[in-house]
Amino acid sequence: SMTYQQNIYPGSRAELIAAISSKLKEKRFEHVLRVEETAITLAEENGVDLEKASIAGLVHDYAKQRTDKEFVDMIKKHQLDPDLLNWGNAIWHGVVGAEFIRDELQIYDEAILNAVRFHTTGAAEMSPLAQVVYMADYIEPGRDFPGVDEARQITHNDLAAGVVYQTKQTLSYLVQKNAPVYPATIATYNHWVAKKQ
Ligand code: GDP
Ligand code: FE
Ligand code: FE
Ligand code: FE
Repeated sequence: SMTYQQNIYPGSRAELIAAISSKLKEKRFEHVLRVEETAITLAEENGVDLEKASIAGLVHDYAKQRTDKEFVDMIKKHQLDPDLLNWGNAIWHGVVGAEFIRDELQIYDEAILNAVRFHTTGAAEMSPLAQVVYMADYIEPGRDFPGVDEARQITHNDLAAGVVYQTKQTLSYLVQKNAPVYPATIATYNHWVAKKQ
């Protein structure tokens, strides 16, 4: 087990785990532990800071179980983009979730907060840490969807190729079910997947 050496979170990994598990249902918390484990492996493979991978993996879904009202209040409190009010939990728990992590867990590391903000939609510009969290969430061992083994193989071979794969699959899936596509999801697709004319 890992003892944090940097002061990114003002406590031990065990204390962070206690704070997170108190806010999540058991199934979601187990997912979070698997994302941490996968994020650490991807970090080792890609020369990314292991403590940041651990912390970002653990906190990425920290706000997933908040009410719509809590998110709306947080969007207003921090004067975030008013367009966010047109979206819902799927988008909010990352983009707005980062503010809960700042306020409640006292984690101020912007690389970690951006990894959380981008974990659902990706972003045009993603640090290696953000790519690690985006991919760990997608391929953690509990995931079971057609293509997940291919996604795992591609990602462990080439992290950025994994980002391309997930981004294309997710946009296809959203279009296939007539779901609204968040602008950042389109920006991610245009940057990582599209062949520019
Ligand atoms: P989690 O581990 O279940 O929290 O996984 P994610 O945070 O990656 O995704 C949460 C949900 O957001 C999934 O159901 C995705 O399909 C969905 N999602 C991702 N991008 C978009 C988007 O652009 N628009 C919409 N409507 N949903 C999206
Ligand atoms: Fe999520
Ligand atoms: Fe994801
Ligand atoms: Fe997740």
